[in-house]
Amino acid sequence: MARKSIELTCQQCRKPFESADYGQVLSCPHCGAKLQQVAQLGQLLEQWFYPRRWRADLHEPNQFYLIEKLWTANGQGVTLYEGIAPPHTNYDIFRNMVTRLVARGIDEGWVQLEFPDDPLEENPVYQLKFSDADRFARAVEGLFPEVDWDEQIEVPVPPEAAATEAPPDPKEPTPISSRRARRR
Ligand SMILES: [Zn+2]
Repeated sequence: MARKSIELTCQQCRKPFESADYGQVLSCPHCGAKLQQVAQLGQLLEQWFYPRRWRADLHEPNQFYLIEKLWTANGQGVTLYEGIAPPHTNYDIFRNMVTRLVARGIDEGWVQLEFPDDPLEENPVYQLKFSDADRFARAVEGLFPEVDWDEQIEVPVPPEAAATEAPPDPKEPTPISSRRARRR
């Protein structure tokens, strides 16, 4: 499928430009500023949401919400938290810190976020890959210097289809809907 060009906005000069190469670092054709992946993701989610903004089952997703959903999929967020057991840090804070870290990793290139060919379709599928597991583990260690790091970190391995599982029931939430994964 050929990718459609989508209009993005430069964060530097605020001018719009079209590109079909979302998912890679883009350069603004007007001022040359870089538009990185996480910022692109934010803009694409905004555009995805706009025509759906009246839907009661959705609220506006943002880039951090989606990144969190991907790296914590299948209980991996909890597994990582329990493995590290950082003192004085509850799971909510932990999840938030790691989500910011993963976002930084995406922009710095040591975590890969694959964009769907059509980010504006009903169920766009994003995939996260920890291509440099050591780098990720070191970065997580850096977040929690008070932890005894003798034990190896288990890097989350998002399944190929992390956000992609076709909902078995059409009423199930879409991958970027606001509903939280059901807790068991
Ligand atoms: Zn620009």
